[in-house]
Amino acid sequence: MFDPSCAHMYAFVRVFWRGRVPNLIGGTFVDSKSSASIDVINPATQEVVSQVPLTTNEEFKAAVSAAKQAFPSWRNTPITTRQRIMFKFQELIRRDMDKLAMNITTEQGKTLKDAHGDVFRGLGKCLLLVLLLWLDFHGMEMVELNLYEVVEHACGMATIQMGEYAPNVSNGIDTYSLREPLGVCAGICPFNFPAMIPLWMFPVAATCGNTFVLKPSEKDPGASIMLAELAMEAGLPKGVLNIVHGTNDIVNAICDDDDIKAISFVGSNIAGMHIYARGSAKGKRVQSNMGAKNHGVVLPDASVDATLNALVAAGFGAAGQRCMALSTIVFVGDSESWENKLVERAKALKVNAGTEPDADLGPVISKQAKERICRLIQSGVDSGARLLLDGRNTVVPGYEHGNFIGPTILTDVTADMDCYKEEIFGPVLLCMRTDSFEEAINIVNNNKYGNGASIFTSSGVAARKFQTEIEAGQVGINVPIPVPLPFFSFTGSKASFAGDLNFYGKAGVNFYTQIKTVTQQWKDLPGSSGVSLAMPTSQKL
Ligand code: NAD
Repeated sequence: MFDPSCAHMYAFVRVFWRGRVPNLIGGTFVDSKSSASIDVINPATQEVVSQVPLTTNEEFKAAVSAAKQAFPSWRNTPITTRQRIMFKFQELIRRDMDKLAMNITTEQGKTLKDAHGDVFRGLGKCLLLVLLLWLDFHGMEMVELNLYEVVEHACGMATIQMGEYAPNVSNGIDTYSLREPLGVCAGICPFNFPAMIPLWMFPVAATCGNTFVLKPSEKDPGASIMLAELAMEAGLPKGVLNIVHGTNDIVNAICDDDDIKAISFVGSNIAGMHIYARGSAKGKRVQSNMGAKNHGVVLPDASVDATLNALVAAGFGAAGQRCMALSTIVFVGDSESWENKLVERAKALKVNAGTEPDADLGPVISKQAKERICRLIQSGVDSGARLLLDGRNTVVPGYEHGNFIGPTILTDVTADMDCYKEEIFGPVLLCMRTDSFEEAINIVNNNKYGNGASIFTSSGVAARKFQTEIEAGQVGINVPIPVPLPFFSFTGSKASFAGDLNFYGKAGVNFYTQIKTVTQQWKDLPGSSGVSLAMPTSQKL
């Protein structure tokens, strides 16, 4: 039996799952009894990194049961204790940042820059967004920034989870509200942020007093296991966090299980809408963060250098595999000089394995993803778009089998093209042109997705009009990736989100808690007041 209090045992766990990634059930890392596994493949080399089992139904039930058993004692654990575990967890993540980063690069392909930890230390909050953009482009540090921030935010749960109190709402009567945990919650994760997205989920849920069943992406489950090891080392009791693996079947089991009260999902629209419908039909809360097509609108008065840097960073960073990547640029007025400069800057980017120090962008996640991205590029060309930069034939010496696609730019794109209608999720920038600002806003608003949209301009009047009229959940003004820090919430909208309560921040806490109101009266009632069958009012109560 694995004892999480023994730090040296963690090394054992890491060696143990080098072959097959374990389930985590009731505080024990266990190899699945399933004979079926999926290979986890390094996208830069095609080497098999590990194998992820298809957790059996029996094991899944055991994980839910462990979470259910752990709930009563965990919900009654003082919130200050739960917070302290998160403080420790955050410290341990920092300690193991390099190992986590290496795991993410190996399984997911993102670039690895060794300076990121130093950059963060001593960072002023006002610089965070700007830095986030730079860092995200230059490696996997956006993962880490958000990773820190959401865990840090969970450390303040005692304040965030507070209810409200109204004294003397009527004669001698007070009303107050409490936010109580729901019970067992579950998280279903995508491949593109293997650490950040699990950390959007279980630290918030658990610090609110819930227990959790996590289903990492089958493409890169390693970071979730490492984070679970750290959470247990930080003191998270057995059964509070459990991990199961697999694909559609395990996801359906999560949707159907009566003991699971809420599901957080991040991933594609097909899976997200399925999970939203199936989970909701079973009476669960579901929050689904899904696909995107984020637009950047560039006005003629935009600052040239800063805007070009922002477009290149937000379009090609993380090889475009971000739900907040700026994948479509709408130029108002002349676009040619912008496009020429964009091509020059994009050409200068280094495509390489994420472990190589000069890499600006790494491979895409799989051969299938590469084929799909190339097919969508070709469909754009076939329907009349012009290819200004073609990264499809990129070959990286020493990594000839990697799923590399270099920066690709298509222009003369129109709204009826498949490359525009579908999310590409690769290093491909689509360029469109309009004569008027109003038309640019219409283009963005007519797109079904609503994760993010940004404007680049030096006009406050235009920026304000954009902010008011644009139909997207996260708006950037001279900021290409307007991901709010966790004291706000991740506020995707339209087809990019299904549910009522967004991820993290106040909304995230509300998602993982049930509100209860208590109305109390502590006074001696005069016996002569008699029985009144009338509806109580503030006068009569
Ligand atoms: P995906 O939908 O293929 O997989 C996500 C999860 O759902 C995985 O755990 C997978 O096992 C499961 N799954 C996949 N298909 C399923 C099905 N038919 N039934 C049940 N479960 C299923 O997504 P992905 O390719 O891993 O991630 C990329 C997608 O995630 C992109 O669309 C991206 O925009 C989106 N994403 C969105 C956000 C956001 O905040 N809106 C953030 C990150 C990623």
